[in-house]
Amino acid sequence: MTTVLTPATPLTAADRCDRCGAQAYLRVVLMSGGELLFCAHHGRKFEPELKKIAAEIQDETERLAAPASASDEER
Ligand SMILES: [Zn+2]
Repeated sequence: MTTVLTPATPLTAADRCDRCGAQAYLRVVLMSGGELLFCAHHGRKFEPELKKIAAEIQDETERLAAPASASDEER
């Protein structure tokens, strides 16, 4: 069984939206080989266009809604 998983590098606070400079939550790998970074706002705004030119879209916007730490429940 072969499962191809792209070892996506998690986006960090150092990754910035190409449009506004906010923290990036989407990485768009272009079919031409380039790479674009977008914040959640611009990622959504340009999503229809991006889907036409992207080879891959790494979407980490769900991290915005998730609690910062999930392992704080231990007492
Ligand atoms: Zn932005």
